[in-house]
Amino acid sequence: MRRGHRTPATRTRAAATAGGVRRARAARRTAGPLRGAVAAGAVAALLAAAALALAPLLTGCGGGGTGGGQAQGGRLAVVASFSVLADITANVAGDRATVTSLVPPGADPHEYQPSPRDLQRVAEADLLVVNGGGLEGRLLDALEAAGSQVPVVVASRGIPPRTPQPGEPPLAAGEVDPHFWLDPVLVKRYVATIRDALVRADPAGADTYIANAAAYGRVLDRLDRWIRRQVATIPPARRTLVMDHASHGYFADEYGFRVVGTVLPGVGTDEAPSAQRLAGLVTTIRREGVKAVFVEAGENPDLARQVAREAGVRLVDDLPDHSLTGRDGPAPTYVAMMKFTTRRIVEALR
Ligand SMILES: [Zn+2]
Repeated sequence: MRRGHRTPATRTRAAATAGGVRRARAARRTAGPLRGAVAAGAVAALLAAAALALAPLLTGCGGGGTGGGQAQGGRLAVVASFSVLADITANVAGDRATVTSLVPPGADPHEYQPSPRDLQRVAEADLLVVNGGGLEGRLLDALEAAGSQVPVVVASRGIPPRTPQPGEPPLAAGEVDPHFWLDPVLVKRYVATIRDALVRADPAGADTYIANAAAYGRVLDRLDRWIRRQVATIPPARRTLVMDHASHGYFADEYGFRVVGTVLPGVGTDEAPSAQRLAGLVTTIRREGVKAVFVEAGENPDLARQVAREAGVRLVDDLPDHSLTGRDGPAPTYVAMMKFTTRRIVEALR
């Protein structure tokens, strides 16, 4: 049986790993021989260039020389657990870092199992960004077992997990809803946390990270206002959601929806529903006058299709909200993904 999310234990582990960020940072300041050599080489090269002609370059170097030396010789290597997080991180990192995602586009982060190659990529990274809330339980377990020293930042750190609204399916004991990213207002918290982690990993880039985070914050503000305008076109009584799994709680809280049911129990995609649950969901959809059932792209839509058919409502099965698409798809970025998802929801419920 696959495991759900949840577990205070996982959260504690994530927090403990984040504590490892501090240890790793301290270790980096005292610089191992290799890093020290790289940093010294880069500083020497900069000084030589400055001496040649451009004195102003020196002031541009900031406090270079201690910490973050690797960023002067090349870009930071940052690994994010899944594509949504990678795009958010890349917006903050700008051109000072190369940001890659462990879970490839189109794959379900709930089902992710790190491969040995993934663990190697993490081991070679300067920073690992995870969502938290139990989403990366298997990855963090594997890193802990491998004695990983890579700094880890939990993007959702400090965001209180939601409790289901009255009438929503309850969570299992200890289960945490990890889908904070489907609320752009909460993603601004991610941005601040990621910014601070990048500044710690690469102090020389602080001004860049702070400016990028502020600019992306304004993008998220515009996205938030755009979503509100779209949602306002749905009659209030129709702002009800039936999802494949409990993915849209934070979105619902922010934009005034009620999540009246889910096909799968819980906040993950790994538990099968009983026939009784499905029959109950059909009854709920009819009683509440729900207009559609929504499923993430890449998930098997068979059960949701069955429910939608029996209830006589629409099935929307292409929400890319757990995984961005490639450049040619409808959701190559977080902002494009949120707009596409919102449009699909609004069209179906209006
Ligand atoms: Zn999910």
